Amino acid sequence: MILGFVEQEAGRVNPHSLEMLTLARRLAGETATSAGSVQAVPFHAIVIGDAVEGLGAYGVTAIHIAQHPDLTDYAPAAWAACVVQVMAAERPTAVLAAGTERGNEVMAYVAAKLGVAMAANVTAVSPGEDYHITRQRWGGSLLEEAWLKGEPKLLTVAPLVIQAEAVEGGVVEVRPFMPELSADDLRVMVDGRTQPESGKVTLADARVVVSGGRGVGSAEGFAVLEELADLLGGAVGGSRVATNLGWRPHTAQVGQTGTRVAPDLYIACGISGAIQHWVGCKSAKHILAINTDPDAPMVTKADYAVIGDLHEILPALIAELRQRIGSE
Ligand SMILES: Cc1cc2nc3c(=O)[nH]c(=O)nc-3n(C[C@H](O)[C@H](O)[C@H](O)COP(=O)(O)OP(=O)(O)OC[C@H]3O[C@@H](n4cnc5c(N)ncnc54)[C@H](O)[C@@H]3O)c2cc1C
Repeated sequence: MILGFVEQEAGRVNPHSLEMLTLARRLAGETATSAGSVQAVPFHAIVIGDAVEGLGAYGVTAIHIAQHPDLTDYAPAAWAACVVQVMAAERPTAVLAAGTERGNEVMAYVAAKLGVAMAANVTAVSPGEDYHITRQRWGGSLLEEAWLKGEPKLLTVAPLVIQAEAVEGGVVEVRPFMPELSADDLRVMVDGRTQPESGKVTLADARVVVSGGRGVGSAEGFAVLEELADLLGGAVGGSRVATNLGWRPHTAQVGQTGTRVAPDLYIACGISGAIQHWVGCKSAKHILAINTDPDAPMVTKADYAVIGDLHEILPALIAELRQRIGSE
């Protein structure tokens, strides 16, 4: 059996979990073929908290729903305990999760609890007694070929690599269960949240991201980036320099240690394009770099570049956009 750990918030499935389920479904099919069986390998999912719908369209045949009065919010060790308890009952050969912060953290706990290996940020798997895997290292700037041995096999799927693909949906058996949790399992858990400004689109969901780096020069310098983002219905991001200097909140950081974004358009203003930043924005459909340095890596890798001072270019761009919007 193959088990997929599905992340959800208020019944809404994390899109990266759907990417993971797509890879897991293919793995279940290929596992059966490689074993010479015509019978499909059972494919189950586990979610914590609210029930979710639509997983049948991803090939899932049974869904285990962990429900417990103490599972009010994210608690990595407790979530891992739920996964381990389903594993003990169902004996899956492999357990997959999305390679999100939570997916990687929960699976690391599962690996530690069971004393088995885990491969993070996998992009391709060939089944067999040992799995031959390709996985991302160094924020995706390097691809590693490796073998994953032993059983059960634990792996997370690198976000934004696999295209989520629904199939003809079947009937999903729903199996709620009450996990056994200890006080230790609940030592780390979310106990509060800060809501983003209402009406603003979030960095991860935005179709346009206007991002600023050291070249912006100050917190006040971001006003013009805010104005452009508002005009385009987008969100404002920043490099680690911009967040470390306190010009932007840490939640705005794009990159290896920040948010990975995949908008239609990423406008990088005064950002050099260090590899740790690049891995966070390289999945954008189009990248526009605005930079004084024609040799900056962001400029050489971008689809479009404007060489010059962002403090002159952005106001000109905004004026042109306003004129075009006004004349529509
Ligand atoms: C383990 C690790 C993790 C990291 N994680 C991240 C991460 O998640 N995200 C991240 O961003 N960084 C990360 N970094 C830091 C990263 O290596 C770079 O230091 C950082 O991205 C550089 O930020 P920057 O491009 O804003 O600054 P700089 O590299 O200093 O570049 C500033 C750019 O602005 C241009 N410029 C200057 N003035 C203007 C102007 N007036 N108009 C237009 N252009 C101008 C310059 O030509 C230059 O290209 C990480 C580093 C490490 C070691």
